Amino acid sequence: MEAGSMSIILHGVAVLLVLGAAFGLGLAIASRKLAVESDPRIDEIEALLPGANCGGCGYPGCRGMAEAIVAGAAPVTGCPVLKDHSPIAAVMGVESTATERLIARVRCGGGRKEAPQRFIYFGVEDCAAAQSLGGGAKACTYGCLGLGSCVKVCPFGAMKMSDNALPVVDEEKCTGCGLCVKACPRQIITLWPYDKKVTVLCMNKDKGAEVRAVCKVGCIACRLCTKNCPTGAIPVEDNLARITPELCTNCEICVEKCPMKTIKGAKKQERAVG
Ligand code: SF4
Ligand code: SF4
Repeated sequence: MEAGSMSIILHGVAVLLVLGAAFGLGLAIASRKLAVESDPRIDEIEALLPGANCGGCGYPGCRGMAEAIVAGAAPVTGCPVLKDHSPIAAVMGVESTATERLIARVRCGGGRKEAPQRFIYFGVEDCAAAQSLGGGAKACTYGCLGLGSCVKVCPFGAMKMSDNALPVVDEEKCTGCGLCVKACPRQIITLWPYDKKVTVLCMNKDKGAEVRAVCKVGCIACRLCTKNCPTGAIPVEDNLARITPELCTNCEICVEKCPMKTIKGAKKQERAVG
């Protein structure tokens, strides 16, 4: 091979090496800058969950459950399969509630009177079917569809539909089996500690003005509950107030302060279920 050809090849190889190194460096910098910070407790809690991905907790698999616990959207006892929840409680820095009884809680207070429909649904009486038809008739795309699929699957007669088209749980009859949680296509039913009576009856993560347009009792993320809670048990994340059950003392100050009447305590149950 001539010396000139060899020099061209070596020059080409050198250019490729420099370009490769530059692209590699660029990708490394971009991956570091664009990396989404994930709370390390999510991985820790996921490793402590059974890995069954059964959905009995109402979240999409064990990873979803771990994310919900870390976000304060689900209790540390939220997995119905796990018998000892104390290792998860330790990760979250709260007291173990291993023997706590769980019951179903419906996290929507927008029934027929409070939340308008976009159209009249004449299909089968099934929430999943209604959801598959344009996302359901209810203007709030997060709220209860009101067709009672949860009530139909309860083997203990622990649920009924109210006159306001919202499911009501009889907490004395509920065994926490989680079948209603699985049946709800909107994932608004969660298993919750029986003795923690305060619940945010809303799952809408839209901004306040959008929430007001679709529901008279939805959370508008005003944070009055957060500011007034003496134990820091009700942060607002993704435009939605969420109770951390381990910190809640059932004082019901947030229930009184909420201008939208979104939060239900033991004393306010009758309003919430219409
Ligand atoms: S289906 Fe199970 S968890 Fe739901 S209300 Fe009935 S007993 Fe309770
Ligand atoms: S006070 Fe009511 S409306 Fe305001 S953030 Fe809390 S739950 Fe939402």
